[in-house]
Amino acid sequence: MAYDSTNIFARILRGELPCKKVYENEHVLAFHDINPQAPVHILVIPKGAYVSLDDFSAKASDAEIAGLVRAVGEIARARGLTEPGYRILANHGRDANQEVPHFHVHIFAGRPLGRMISKA
Ligand code: 5GP
Repeated sequence: MAYDSTNIFARILRGELPCKKVYENEHVLAFHDINPQAPVHILVIPKGAYVSLDDFSAKASDAEIAGLVRAVGEIARARGLTEPGYRILANHGRDANQEVPHFHVHIFAGRPLGRMISKA
């Protein structure tokens, strides 16, 4: 799937749409999800144009990949999530119900999160 530069997160990155920013560095932007599924629900996105983890893992530089993973850990530590814990999630494609075609990692925390995934 080709990258669609009109997607919502691309527009947030360009400053065309607002977001509640949590963190930013040269490689990533992180902001609160507009429809939180847990008391803490943060999205961490690369600044590069990648559709999903599939695209990101195949095409991003080592620096971009390390930058994103380190940012997720840094955000979690800075917000005191390491204890009692948090969950990260990245949807790719139809079966995972990926809605926004710009790679993003969800961070969920702030309550017991149950076991893994829905059976539905
Ligand atoms: P996906 O299903 O693609 O993994 O998740 C997309 C996420 O983006 C959803 O949790 C949804 O609530 C969030 N989202 C969609 N549009 C916006 C927006 O305009 N701003 C923010 N902050 N989050 C959004």
